[in-house]
Amino acid sequence: MAPTTEGEQKHPRRAVALAAHDASGRVSPICISRRDTGDDDVAIKILYCGICHSDLHTIKNEWRTAIYPVVPGHEIAGVVTEVGKNVKKFNVGDRVGVGCMANTCRSCESCEEGLENYCSKITFTYNSHDKDGTVTYGGYSDMVVVNQHFVIRFPENMPLDKGAPLLCAGITVYTPMKYHGLNEPGKHIGVIGLGGLGHVAVKFAKAFGMRVTVISTATEKREEAMEKLGADAFVVSSDASQMKAVKGTMHGIINTASASMSMYPYLALLKPQGKMILLGLPEKPLQISAFSLVAGGKTMAGSCMGSIRDTQEMMDFAAEHGLTADIELIGADDVNDAMERLAKGEVRYRFVIDVGNTLKAA
Ligand code: NAP
Ligand code: ZN
Ligand code: ZN
Repeated sequence: MAPTTEGEQKHPRRAVALAAHDASGRVSPICISRRDTGDDDVAIKILYCGICHSDLHTIKNEWRTAIYPVVPGHEIAGVVTEVGKNVKKFNVGDRVGVGCMANTCRSCESCEEGLENYCSKITFTYNSHDKDGTVTYGGYSDMVVVNQHFVIRFPENMPLDKGAPLLCAGITVYTPMKYHGLNEPGKHIGVIGLGGLGHVAVKFAKAFGMRVTVISTATEKREEAMEKLGADAFVVSSDASQMKAVKGTMHGIINTASASMSMYPYLALLKPQGKMILLGLPEKPLQISAFSLVAGGKTMAGSCMGSIRDTQEMMDFAAEHGLTADIELIGADDVNDAMERLAKGEVRYRFVIDVGNTLKAA
């Protein structure tokens, strides 16, 4: 297989990967280059990688940011194979993960506050320019080299496959619950969208002792949401009477919808001064009327991933509570079918690629 990536000259180390070459939403095998393990780096043999809806938005170029070839994947779980001489936190053989960030400036206000996820010079795990100018490649690949600061330790009892999705989906829902005071027992929280993010939002909210109502477009998810995931209630958003029954009852809503929507019916579910936290990143703008926020003094906020400190805290919290993602483990050959099913909302509830056993050079 011919090397095809721009990093080839700078980085001689070869890796196998799946890449999108255009906006078709499909990936195919490619040979990429990874850097040598630097003094502060950790080299990781990737065993599992979750498929986030952001991977799909990116490869289809729905955010107009794709730098092809795109090797997606930011829910990476694997084992350390090599460490640089300054690395103290990790040893060869450790079980580790990498989420959405591969680097940040480490010196701006956000970085100094430990909120690297808001660094303006952030390098994302894929489809992003690294400090040496090359483009980063994500976890649909057999190995990766990452600065030690951005590597997360897997707690002992956390499985790599079911734990991988927590590195994006988990931290993305955990962070707003923590920073917006929605993690208090007894509070009523709504979760819009029962997909990868939504299903772990239900699990974290229950672990925090909250009352959880799922607000979904899919009637058929009701039973699982209540019986398997532990939601207290389930509302179908297209059913006006079900929506009316929970009007004005929620302290906060975690909105994970991947498609654009009218916010009006959802904001009506909040109590006065309730908070709507946007996590979903639809291609098209949301529709919202000022009245639906102003009347009731409601807040609408966004939240992006989470810091490294919070990611480790979230993983440890999840391990303590036996909390993992519900996954469908797939082979590297199944990724294109999985992408189609993800687009249709058919996943229960996260696809995870069995990279270690199935990703081979074409
Ligand atoms: P997912 O597994 O596809 O789940 C998205 C869910 O949204 C679907 O299962 C569906 O749930 C719901 N949905 C889809 N279309 C809808 C519509 N028109 N109206 C209402 N609900 C709709 O995706 P995911 O991986 O959880 O990601 C969700 C979104 O979050 C994506 O846009 C992704 O890019 C974004 N994201 C953001 C961050 C961040 O840092 N903020 C991090 C990761 C992902 P129901 O079937 O239950 O209706
Ligand atoms: Zn993600
Ligand atoms: Zn910074």
